[in-house]
Amino acid sequence: MSIRGNIEAVRVKIAEAAKAAGRDPAEITLVGASKMNDAAACREAIAAGIDALGENRVQEMAEKLAENAYDGAPLHFIGHLQRNKVRQVVGKVALIQSVGSDPLLDEIEKQAEKLGIVQDILLEVNVGGEEAKSGFAPGEISTAAGRAKTLPHVRLRGLMTVPPIETTSGENLTNFQKVNRLYVDINQKLYDNTFDILSMGMSGDYPDAISAGATMVRVGTAIFGHRVYPATNQEGTV
Ligand SMILES: *Cc1c(COP(=O)(O)O)cnc(C)c1O
Repeated sequence: MSIRGNIEAVRVKIAEAAKAAGRDPAEITLVGASKMNDAAACREAIAAGIDALGENRVQEMAEKLAENAYDGAPLHFIGHLQRNKVRQVVGKVALIQSVGSDPLLDEIEKQAEKLGIVQDILLEVNVGGEEAKSGFAPGEISTAAGRAKTLPHVRLRGLMTVPPIETTSGENLTNFQKVNRLYVDINQKLYDNTFDILSMGMSGDYPDAISAGATMVRVGTAIFGHRVYPATNQEGTV
């Protein structure tokens, strides 16, 4: 397998899914989920034209930033973010996709204010209501979006979701449609249709996410191959 060949194959599938949904493939951003892949793999993906790279762990991202792994592409943070690590992320990434609680939102605002910047963010929706997953419940997301609007140092660009792991293919289509309805509703009622990012879909289900309106997909395995986790650390599995 080659990263370049894999990206080309994913782009073909993105284009097919977009066309089937009557959408323009150019409106779909491809984010490479590069956790557990080294700086060389990140550079290969950037050379092959990936639109952005997304990282899950602050420590790993810091190490790869020090190696200039992301030069040439925007960097996103897509993993669970602890409040005490916000300082290492704000201002270092173009977009924090995984803002899933009010305290985290407040901490990002605080750090961005200190730096004198406006940090782009997405709010994460826990669409499956899973205990172990972070994110706002679907019923809370509108209130959270309203609150984000009052914070001068964050700019809410849209929503992100990681639905439950599918047991059968196509299972998450209804979850994606549900998040799209929330996105459209909040966009109209609170944000004057300025939202431009609906981030949903991973290697196993990104065509379904596109058919349900995703403007951004986060693809790891289908680009970089299977990740090998150290036996003692499973936190990167979602
Ligand atoms: C790892 C990860 C992905 C990509 O998952 P794959 O199934 O490998 O494509 C997407 N989003 C998030 C938040 C992830 O942690």
